[in-house]
Amino acid sequence: MKEPLIYDLGSPGRVGVGMPDPDVPLTEIPAALVREDLDLPEVDELTAVRHFQRLSQLNHNIEKDFYPLGSCTMKYNPKLNEDMARLPGFAHIHPLQDTDTVQGALEVMFDVQEWLAELGGFAGVSLQPAAGAHGEFAGILMMRKYHLNKGDTKRTKMLIPDSAHGTNPASTSMSGLTVIEIPSDERGNVDLAVLREQCDDTVVGLMITNPNTLGLFEEHMLEVIEAVHACGGLVYGDGANFNALMGIVRPGDMGFDVMHYNLHKTFSTPHGGGGPGSGPVGVSERLTPFLPGPIVGIVEDADDDDELPVYGFMMPEKSIGRMKAFHGQFGMHVRALSYMLAYGGEGLRKVSEMAVLNANYLRVRLHDAYHIPFDRINMHEFVAEGRFSDAPNVHALDIAKRLMDYGFHPPTNYFPLIVHEALMIEPTETESKETLDAFTDAMIQIGQEARDAPELLQSAPHVTPIGRLDEVMAAKQLVLCCRPIPEWAEE
Ligand SMILES: *Cc1c(COP(=O)(O)O)cnc(C)c1O
Repeated sequence: MKEPLIYDLGSPGRVGVGMPDPDVPLTEIPAALVREDLDLPEVDELTAVRHFQRLSQLNHNIEKDFYPLGSCTMKYNPKLNEDMARLPGFAHIHPLQDTDTVQGALEVMFDVQEWLAELGGFAGVSLQPAAGAHGEFAGILMMRKYHLNKGDTKRTKMLIPDSAHGTNPASTSMSGLTVIEIPSDERGNVDLAVLREQCDDTVVGLMITNPNTLGLFEEHMLEVIEAVHACGGLVYGDGANFNALMGIVRPGDMGFDVMHYNLHKTFSTPHGGGGPGSGPVGVSERLTPFLPGPIVGIVEDADDDDELPVYGFMMPEKSIGRMKAFHGQFGMHVRALSYMLAYGGEGLRKVSEMAVLNANYLRVRLHDAYHIPFDRINMHEFVAEGRFSDAPNVHALDIAKRLMDYGFHPPTNYFPLIVHEALMIEPTETESKETLDAFTDAMIQIGQEARDAPELLQSAPHVTPIGRLDEVMAAKQLVLCCRPIPEWAEE
């Protein structure tokens, strides 16, 4: 597809907007600020608008079509929450304002802390961390400080199952601790025997994702937690998969000591493209003094029902400190509260039930066409193998790329690492049965193509603005240029 470049549409002297001559004296722009080498196209306003409109359609997005990117929870975010975040009273305040002028904003943050604590079964929540991985880092620092605060300096080991997200070992290493990998058993659970062997007085704790990255609920969760607690370790829950659990089970009740929430996955905030994330952490009673801060608390109770309490920022007593300038990603807090209030407790439970139902529906519909290594009731996502014994030259990547020709975003591929040629599929609760059917039809069709015309898959995608890229180079040496690629970049 050859789109006209805006540079070919310009014509000298053409301008976007005609303005009357100014009736105030003109000021010279300092010469040092003027660049002559930019060679920008001179176009009318409509051409410029069409250019940007066209650009906005080049990438796949949830508003274009289905986006089953496993682990990422690419659900549709109701526009209502965007409207709330843009209310001038929220959008135009400044973090250095006196707290008595922004009591409404503090109340929003307080309520988000309370909702998250209630949903997760935790004693305290901090909204400081800016992403899931940032929440992990905060959680590990709290676990570490908890042990050090008791004078227990021997603990340096973090136990992490091999089904963990890559951020778990990364956050652990960044905190100066050692990662010990725990294998999964044949049902996709943590291998309890190996875990028990590793539990000793040098363990800081365990970091576990439940449901795990295979989309499976850990069948021995309570035994796993008990084993870690028995040797004095703490248990970290990677809460990125919380979309499967809301209103059904509370990690705090199961014995988790700390967990991060990905507001940008579970609680309706835009996700990806480098936009702001938010990764609050919830903790059990014994970790509340270590929470990153400041957090929002009530500094003065209301005297009667007509009055509002006074909110203020407070630093937990033994806090690991700040994770972020000011107060976290406030706009995300507004979106999350708007989402929670719109659905209510019952509605959030329904969200999780539908997310799980949709994922199981997909698994069962695909189960004859694809090998599903852990073929049991899954939670909000599942992993299929992207390979066929009778089409040996077709790989998960080819299937993923071919899906783009059908208008769908590919599932996550080659993760988790413990499944060969993994395709990790997460439909979320916001998709209709018609969309799920269309997706499975495409997957089944692609399975047939893999046998009949494998080259169709190997050379896919065919209908996207650019064909198959060298993905490593595209990420590591990104050339952001709207002109044909300059020679220096091709070397
Ligand atoms: C997304 C994700 C993370 C990291 O969250 P970010 O907000 O992207 O930093 C961690 N663990 C799991 C299982 C995830 O899916």
